[in-house]
Amino acid sequence: MVERYPERVTSFVAGRAWADRGSELPIVDPSTGERIGTLVEAGAEDVDAAVRAARSAFENSGWARMDTGKRQETLLAAHDAILAHADELAELECAALGVPLRELRERHMRRAAYNFRFFAEFIGQMRGEVYDQTEGYRSIVVREPVGVAALIAPWNAPVALASMKVAAALAFGNTCVLKPSEQTPLALRRFVEILHEAGVPDGVVNLVNGRGPVTGAALVAHPGVDLISFTGGTETGRAIMEAAGRRLVPCTMELGGKSANIVFASADRERALDAALASIYSNNGQQCLAGSRILVEREIAERFIADFVDRARRIRIGDPRDETTELGPLASAGHRERVLGFARDAAADGLTLLTGGDAPRGLPDRLSGGFYVEPIAALAADNAVRACQQEIFGPFATFQIFDGYDDAIRRANDTEFGLVSYVWSDHLPTVERAVRDLRSGVVWVNTTMTRELRAPFGGYANSGVGREGGEACMQFYTEQKTVTIPSRPIAVRRFGAG
Ligand code: NDP
Repeated sequence: MVERYPERVTSFVAGRAWADRGSELPIVDPSTGERIGTLVEAGAEDVDAAVRAARSAFENSGWARMDTGKRQETLLAAHDAILAHADELAELECAALGVPLRELRERHMRRAAYNFRFFAEFIGQMRGEVYDQTEGYRSIVVREPVGVAALIAPWNAPVALASMKVAAALAFGNTCVLKPSEQTPLALRRFVEILHEAGVPDGVVNLVNGRGPVTGAALVAHPGVDLISFTGGTETGRAIMEAAGRRLVPCTMELGGKSANIVFASADRERALDAALASIYSNNGQQCLAGSRILVEREIAERFIADFVDRARRIRIGDPRDETTELGPLASAGHRERVLGFARDAAADGLTLLTGGDAPRGLPDRLSGGFYVEPIAALAADNAVRACQQEIFGPFATFQIFDGYDDAIRRANDTEFGLVSYVWSDHLPTVERAVRDLRSGVVWVNTTMTRELRAPFGGYANSGVGREGGEACMQFYTEQKTVTIPSRPIAVRRFGAG
């Protein structure tokens, strides 16, 4: 149990707390709206110190050239340490994010720990390449760490998402500077300390706290950064990739989504209903892979939508620390305003509001300053409406009714995004066609979100560039070096020898 949250949260550089020289920003608990701490922002000089520490650790700490077995031991120690501190990390995350504590403890922190175990095991199985087809020569391809990685994480699942980046960067021998969102600094700051307690050498993982346009922009522009891995909004991703392009720094971009959840009449309707609710309302509705556009086939639509609305109205909203809460507050006051704005403008935007769209009534007084919303569901006139095209990133489900397979796929693919799609049908030919025709980086068939870390994860179109996952991270976080050696002394052309 966390007795008190840290009053001042700073960066973490070269293995210790860093005295940042930037502005002071409030850290707010979204469940009450109260200020619970102060974040001291890292300015350009602080970011410079963090990148230098990462560079020095890359060159001098031995991490980059460490034996695989020894590096695996450290990654596995990190796995154990995260699990041992799962309750503490979940409480810190909950305090600044507002996602139900149970979800954070049982899903986010387990996933964070598993990321380290996964990459520890992955590097134990890496293989090289050998070419001996050129007569008299043998060429081998080795992989080496790239250098200093800038890792930029969003606020909706800070530890779960950032841990994937840190574990991957470290596993392949890189050092890194992590920048969390300034809204949710608490758990990641402690997470980095825990990694050090588990034996990660000083300077291998550094963290800079502060706002995107200040701290994040300084990190992205720093000439000492060799790689950028970003998860966040599409517009931010575009700006970062432009900055990186000027220095030819490789990037991966995990960006936004507006994913279709297609429920055919041939689906197992009970399961599809449970999944439709979970896909849009878990994590307080704030997830890139939310099934936010629910497309239902006409013959089952009326009943399906009515059942969905009935269940949405019964979702338990409240204090995220309460074990029975299903939907906590949104992450900030500004974000709540934006989400409710879509509900307020519903009629003008071509939506019929079916439920929600307001602050919930009947919450205890102590939560009256929190950023709560009722779960929202709306029927869209067609796929062109604003709520079906823009990412809302909140507990806001839109329904469309479709007529037949072609109509479903046309609506699903009519989007600037392409992160994931969900298909519900027990008719195999329909499933096979849909898997082929859907334009997204992931297609989940008859299931809610299930990440297979061995497989690539990432989006088509404006949902991203590059992929994360075992093999994909190996490609991104390593340089390939080809070494060619003749099998006997070779005859070299003798310039100037007469
Ligand atoms: P943002 O794009 O606003 O921010 C993401 C991160 O980038 C934050 O740490 C932010 O800092 C930082 N940042 C902002 N501006 C800059 C800049 N100019 N230079 C460097 N860094 C910057 O996204 P959100 O945090 O609002 O996260 C929500 C978005 O993330 C949604 O669009 C969601 O779909 C997407 N996302 C994608 C996922 C995927 O795997 N595809 C997974 C999860 C979320 P700060 O917040 O401190 O300003």
